[in-house]
Amino acid sequence: MNPLELFFFSFLGIFVGSFLFLVIQRLPKNEQFLVGRSKCDFCNHNLDWFDLFPVLSYILTKGKCRYCHNRLSFLYPAFELFTAAVFALTYYLFPATSIVSLTFYLIIVSALLVIFFIDLFHEIIPFVILLPVTVIVVIYNFWFTPVLFLNYLFAALGAAVFFLVLFLVTRGKGLGFGDVVFAFFMGSLLGFPRIIIGLYISFVLGAVIGLIYIFIKKKQLRGSAIPFGPFLVLGTYIALSLPMHFIYLIFYYTHLNYLLGML
Ligand SMILES: [Zn+2]
Repeated sequence: MNPLELFFFSFLGIFVGSFLFLVIQRLPKNEQFLVGRSKCDFCNHNLDWFDLFPVLSYILTKGKCRYCHNRLSFLYPAFELFTAAVFALTYYLFPATSIVSLTFYLIIVSALLVIFFIDLFHEIIPFVILLPVTVIVVIYNFWFTPVLFLNYLFAALGAAVFFLVLFLVTRGKGLGFGDVVFAFFMGSLLGFPRIIIGLYISFVLGAVIGLIYIFIKKKQLRGSAIPFGPFLVLGTYIALSLPMHFIYLIFYYTHLNYLLGML
């Protein structure tokens, strides 16, 4: 690990975070997000200066709009710093061996961030984001690890069919169709046997958080009271970042290996 590179990718994360925040805000409202600047929520003025120096602009203006002096949401700098932290963590954890693979992982992680927050707040997995990254993943696999291409393809199809069955059985109340497509993306990204661990982590996290939610709210969960997408995103990130011997350890301690008749 190179500290200079770590600093560079964190710094990049601040700028990417600024853009991702716009996407998360605008995509669910069907607003244009590829062009255009941040706008003040109160006077609708374009905030060009605000986009130019993320975090710093917020500090320099004490978090107030220059035109109407209303307070801007602290979520702007918070999300930018969060993205920076996630980029630094990704640089540190992921097995990127070249600038190409690191760029690939940062694109995937950016998409995961957007999907996480949009599904959390709006209960939709945006296909405009999910489908292009799935295509990127499939091309990347085909190009860099052609030997494993069938492995990734079967992991993707297996996960998607598994979720499709869950979707049909629960009649779309437990899971959305977005989750089925996400499962395909997840399988094509993780391959076998990582996909099993990714799904396993997602279901465990979903069950734990779901139970806490029921406990706090003291009521039954109805339908998709909590969207499942954010758990799939977490499962994907964790399974992707774990070294292979960790994956095998999880198999061993959860006895998943017996279930699958493998290893
Ligand atoms: Zn304003």
